[in-house]
Amino acid sequence: MANVRLEDIKRRFNNVTAIEDITFEIPDGEFWVLVGPSGCGKSTILRTIAGLESATSGKLFIGDRLVNNIPARQRDVAMVFQNYALYPHMSVAENIAFGLQMRKVDRKIIQERVMNVARSLSLDHLLDRKPKQLSGGQQQRVALGRAIAREPQVFLLDEPLSNLDAQLRDDTRAELKQLHQELGITTIYVTHDQVEAMTLADKIVVLNRGRIQQIGDPQTIYASP
Ligand code: ADP
Ligand code: ADP
Repeated sequence: MANVRLEDIKRRFNNVTAIEDITFEIPDGEFWVLVGPSGCGKSTILRTIAGLESATSGKLFIGDRLVNNIPARQRDVAMVFQNYALYPHMSVAENIAFGLQMRKVDRKIIQERVMNVARSLSLDHLLDRKPKQLSGGQQQRVALGRAIAREPQVFLLDEPLSNLDAQLRDDTRAELKQLHQELGITTIYVTHDQVEAMTLADKIVVLNRGRIQQIGDPQTIYASP
């Protein structure tokens, strides 16, 4: 776990300013949600924290560490996208274990972590299946499991439920909430969905045209006028 601090982050693409004046600090273990219209900069913020984009200016800290120049692989951050890309030839267990094997984690520890993650995400009866033998919701849970199994300091989610149908979205959202309560990993979550923001967020950051419009708790942000 770690706090995440952005200080005056700006990102420009050629002559387009995608985000600017982005300053906030997420305390250890909190769940923050980024909302705002398409193109307002949500993904750019997430990708900058992940190290998939670099900030044009400003400072980014994960824990006490200034990470602007630290590559993605060394940031101890896990990211899950809308289009979960599982390895089709690997079983569910192998998919979940993949990031740990890359890091040469001990086999026994890998087995334990895979079992724990699978249990938390109700995947324990599916460990031998291949991705194509799973429903969309199950596949997305495997993608979440693969990211969580590494026990990252920070968990980044870019509209992870938007490809699921309504029932699956509700179930997976509830599982995500429970997973966060169990693990307490600092989480930043991008969504268009007000229900997701209301039920998951400790704090909501409202963005507009690359700038922060408001930061507040869900009750304040969605209070009826
Ligand atoms: P959101 O995730 O809120 O939809 P994005 O972060 O994807 O917004 O995009 C913010 C702005 O930055 C948009 O104007 C988008 O077109 C622009 N942008 C994002 N990525 C790039 C890129 N690689 N090259 C040029 N412009 C980009
Ligand atoms: P989202 O709907 O999640 O915001 P987008 O479709 O905006 O995703 O962006 C998908 C990818 O395309 C991202 O990697 C983003 O950086 C890139 N991108 C977005 N806008 C532009 C742009 N105007 N020019 C080049 N790349 C872009």
